[in-house]
Amino acid sequence: MKWIGLTGGIASGKSTVAEIIGKSGVPVINADQVAHLALDPGSRVYPKLVQTFGEGILFSDKTIDRNKLGALIFKDPSARERLEQLVHPFVREEVKAIRKDLEGQGHAVAVYDVPLLFEKNMEKDFDHILLIYCDPEQQLERLMKRNSLTREQAELRLRAQIPLKDKKKKAAEVIDNSGTLKDLEADVKAWLKTVKTSF
Ligand code: ADP
Repeated sequence: MKWIGLTGGIASGKSTVAEIIGKSGVPVINADQVAHLALDPGSRVYPKLVQTFGEGILFSDKTIDRNKLGALIFKDPSARERLEQLVHPFVREEVKAIRKDLEGQGHAVAVYDVPLLFEKNMEKDFDHILLIYCDPEQQLERLMKRNSLTREQAELRLRAQIPLKDKKKKAAEVIDNSGTLKDLEADVKAWLKTVKTSF
């Protein structure tokens, strides 16, 4: 089974592309969604999270208040590191199991949607990497609109990531999402056709 990394920058169109790919019948796993499973009270990581960050991160029903956890790690880089050390191995193991399952089901291709693929140096994990690109001004405008941010707030978020232009140089496959949603859908479908035949 071909294992494809789907990435881009914030608001470049990854989720939109993941949806188009998913609808075409190719399975898509989302790294952020798997990471959220780690916070579930039933997960094996949950007791370690409560032990590390204290009961102050919990709602009264014992579920984790993501805003409180987020505020903690925002203030303290070492807390962020501890959180990542607990959550990353969980994500790796879960994704490995899902991947094995999909392979067992006979899928020829599966896509792993990882927003920070390049930031986390995960290039070697994939048979192919697909980058969703759009021009920087459009990225900024889509981010402002989607998240109701001011230009300054959006610029701050963009600055925390490797610029899309630099990621573009590293990716073998690029879909340019600077056009309309209709253009994007056509490009993704054409790309899927080449994936199924030539990879
Ligand atoms: P990402 O998952 O990379 O953060 P999204 O797929 O959520 O990005 O896209 C960011 C925003 O831009 C969303 O509101 C989405 O609906 C919109 N969007 C994506 N592609 C296009 C496009 N080609 N034309 C117009 N809006 C788009």
